Formats: sequence, C-alpha cells, structure tokens
Amino acid sequence: MKYDIAIIGGGIGGLMAAYQAKKNNRNANIIIIEKGFTLDKRNCPAGHNKKCIHCKICSITSGYAGAGAFSDGKFNLGTAYGGTMGDELGENTAMKYINAVDDILRDFSDDYPELYMSNEDLKLKCLQNNLRLLDMNVRHLGTDKNYSTMMHLIEWLNDNGVVLTSLTDCTDIEKCDGGYEIHTISKGETEVITAEKIIIATGRGGAEFVTNFCNKFGIQIGANSVDIGVRVEMKDAVWREFSSKIYEPKILYRTKTFEDRTRMFCFNQGGLVSAENNQGVITANGHSFAEPEKKTDNCNFAILSSIHFAGDFTKPTEYAINIARNMNFAGEGNIIVQRFGDLIRGRRTNDHRLSANSVIPTLKAFAGDLSIVMPYRALTNIIETIYALDKVAPGCANDDTLLYGCENKYYSIKPVHNGNFEIMDGVYLIGDGSGITRGLSQSGAMGLYVADHIYGKIED
Ligand SMILES: Cc1cc2nc3c(=O)[nH]c(=O)nc-3n(C[C@H](O)[C@H](O)[C@H](O)COP(=O)(O)OP(=O)(O)OC[C@H]3O[C@@H](n4cnc5c(N)ncnc54)[C@H](O)[C@@H]3O)c2cc1C
Repeated sequence: MKYDIAIIGGGIGGLMAAYQAKKNNRNANIIIIEKGFTLDKRNCPAGHNKKCIHCKICSITSGYAGAGAFSDGKFNLGTAYGGTMGDELGENTAMKYINAVDDILRDFSDDYPELYMSNEDLKLKCLQNNLRLLDMNVRHLGTDKNYSTMMHLIEWLNDNGVVLTSLTDCTDIEKCDGGYEIHTISKGETEVITAEKIIIATGRGGAEFVTNFCNKFGIQIGANSVDIGVRVEMKDAVWREFSSKIYEPKILYRTKTFEDRTRMFCFNQGGLVSAENNQGVITANGHSFAEPEKKTDNCNFAILSSIHFAGDFTKPTEYAINIARNMNFAGEGNIIVQRFGDLIRGRRTNDHRLSANSVIPTLKAFAGDLSIVMPYRALTNIIETIYALDKVAPGCANDDTLLYGCENKYYSIKPVHNGNFEIMDGVYLIGDGSGITRGLSQSGAMGLYVADHIYGKIED
C-alpha cells in the first residue's frame, strides 16, 4: 500500500503531525515509523539510582512519545525559548500553533494542571544582578501526567487508523514515481514502504540520519551553534523563591571573561538527575514528578555555554559529542559528578567526599574532576554563571553543589527549508531534528503546522 504520509519518528512532533493530518482528512493513510519501543514497553534500567547500562535502544530518548516521554512535561507556552518558531513563522502564527498544542493536550489529559504565570519582581531582581530572566507561561504536566496524556494521544491515533510501527528503523529514503520509497529494518528484516509525502521528525537523536539525507539529496545545511554544559544539583530550598512563583526559572547571563552567553534552563523542582544515552554517549539531564510524594530534597537545572563556530567549521555536533565521549572515558563509562567546592579548589571529588556531601546525589555517577575534560572556556563560563546566580539565589555557589558533566545540547544541522519546513518536494523536516525547535511545545506546534500545510490550511 502507498501511504499518503509517512512520519519518521514518534516523538511529540511526529505524533502531533499525525493527529492534525487525521483531523484534516480522516481517510488519510498515515504511518509512523519509530525505531524505539511502544510507550508502554519503554523502560530505562538506569532509573532508581542505577548506572546506565548502555542499551542498544535508549528508552529515555527513543520510542513513542520521543525524548520527552519521561521528561518533566514542562510545556513552555511562548516563543522566548524552546526554539525559533517565532522567527520562522512570525509571533502570531507560532503562538496559534503553540496554543493549539496546549488545547490538544488538555483534551487528552485526565486532569489538566493550571498555568504558572510570569513574575515582574523576579525579573527586576535578576536585572539588578546582570541576569536576564526569560519569563513565560508554563504548563507543568509532570512526568506521570505527561506519560498518561501521551498514552491517550497515541491510543487516539491507533483508534483512528494511523499505522504505528515500533522497533522499526528508517535507514534510507529514495525518490520514486509519485513519492518516496522508505527503507526500514525491523528485527533484522528489511522492508520498503512507499509514501507520497514524508515528515521527518527524528529529533536530536536523528542528527546523523538527517545529515545523510541532506547530503544525499544536496540539501544545503546551515551551520548552527552547540551548547556545552553541566547539570547542577543543590538543595531545593535555594530556588524556592523562584520555583514557588514562576515554577521554572530560565536565566541568561553574559560572562565577564569571555563575554559569552550562558543560560540556566530545564529547572526541576524536587527533581532527579538522569542519564541519557545518545548512541552510546552518556550525558546528564533531569526531570521531576508532579506528585508531592515523589519529590526529592533537591532541585536541578542545566547551565550551558553556547559556542558559535565561525568560518567553514560545520561539525559542532561532533565537537560536542567528542567532549561528552571523553567525559565518559574519564568517568569509566559514566557521567562525572564533582562538588563545586572541589572544582574551585582544583581537586577531584572522590567517593569519600561525596558520601559526606550535604546535597545527596540523585544519580549514581563517577566521582571525579570535570576540569580534565571540559574546555577551559566552557568551564570558566559555567563557574562565573554559578557565582552570578548565587546573587539572586544565595546558596547556589555552595561547596556542596553538585555538577554533573556533561550536558550538551546539539542542534547543529539546520537544513534550509522553503518557509513551510519543506526541505525537498514533499519532504518536511520538523521538531528538534530541524535545528529550529528545542522543546515539547514548539516541536508539537511544528507538527501541527506542517500537517496543515500539507492539507492547504495555511494562508499565504
Ligand atoms: C530527559 C529529558 C527531559 C526533557 N524535558 C523537557 C521538558 O520538560 N520540556 C520541554 O519542552 N522539553 C523537554 N525536553 C526536550 C524535549 O523532549 C524535546 O524537545 C522533544 O522531545 C522533541 O520532540 P521531537 O518530536 O522533535 O523529537 P524526539 O522526541 O526526539 O522524537 C524523535 C523520535 O524519532 C525516533 N527516530 C529517530 N531516528 C529514527 C529513524 N531513523 N527511524 C525511526 N525512528 C527514528 C526516535 O526514536 C524518537 O522517538 C526533554 C528532553 C529530555 C531528553
């Protein structure tokens, strides 16, 4: 059978695209090709304080509901961060689709949470300390509600005839008469599926797939930046003034030494630090549960230092992956954790010092020294940012604050598109794999937009 639309990747971008396509035409033949497990079968053995065991298919980043399946489920309802949809489509159109994602999630949620609104006093406090608070309305589903909402959305797609494959890796795409041939491999068996249109929604983990596709068809790739950083963990009380009012502080800083931009983001109140396996390279991340009984005494967030490569250098992702790989090498196959006080004193953290730490680590990582791997520039930026944040959240620069390295964000490939995210005739690239989005709301919004474009619902 020839499909009308084949969607590669079952993350929020792919799921929202399938949903909207079905809403636009309920007879449409749609298939989702997903290399990971179905949502109910996704299980990370590294959870509950165990070490990452390097699964062939990482259940944290792959599978139905994508990289966000076990996330904190924070939906940022704006364009100030989480991607550049506002620049791409204009503020009004971007907001229309971001709000549409929120409405759809409400429909599939059993109990939809209230919004956290922005706060002017905290904005001023940050401004007075050379920090810029990026304040936006946030809907926090929490890990459990996010999971059940995604499950209901997937059930709806299944009930409405969308073909949902799992453990099916898309390996190649060829042009054919009236569309495309999509080559897949599932449990060792190869198959070719044909479709008129393709939506590539392979997320950050699909960077290599997208690069190969663009190289094969001569699609121009614009160079992008990369973020290198750490996951920071401390007592929850340090950030309570912020988290009780706006839920998620996202703060920008310009460092003194290099005048680079750093950002504090992905804040998890009462949360857990987690490990993420991106094709064998382990990096740090974090999440939290909405239920009070699942909260920890800690909070965590990322501090990232952005690096922009000038000139002909087109491999920022590889650069960042190599740093993470070296960090794993020095950490005996794991993430390295270091106390801030040890980092400042130029000594490694060892198990003894870690066991006496007042901040109890929520992830089992290798106690070591980040400075032997982390580039001087990035590490200087991170240290300066922690001291700057300490001015608005005293206690941030405590000796017992923990830094987990590394946490990198790769969005290096940004293929050129036609203004509607179409990178080749009938082939769309959406979500985090496009280099345009960096979060759940905007990735989902892009899926909705593209499905509307395919069915002629976008006004020029
Ligand atoms: C731990 C964690 C916490 C996060 N927390 C938040 C948060 O609270 N709020 C927020 O806004 N964002 C959060 N994010 C980021 C958010 O998850 C992503 O922005 C979002 O998932 C991007 O959606 P996507 O559909 O573009 O890609 P993904 O969710 O990455 O989905 C892509 C899918 O494509 C599949 N795939 C890739 N290549 C192939 C192939 N060749 N063949 C078949 N399938 C393929 C993958 O298996 C994956 O399931 C978090 C991310 C992580 C990892």
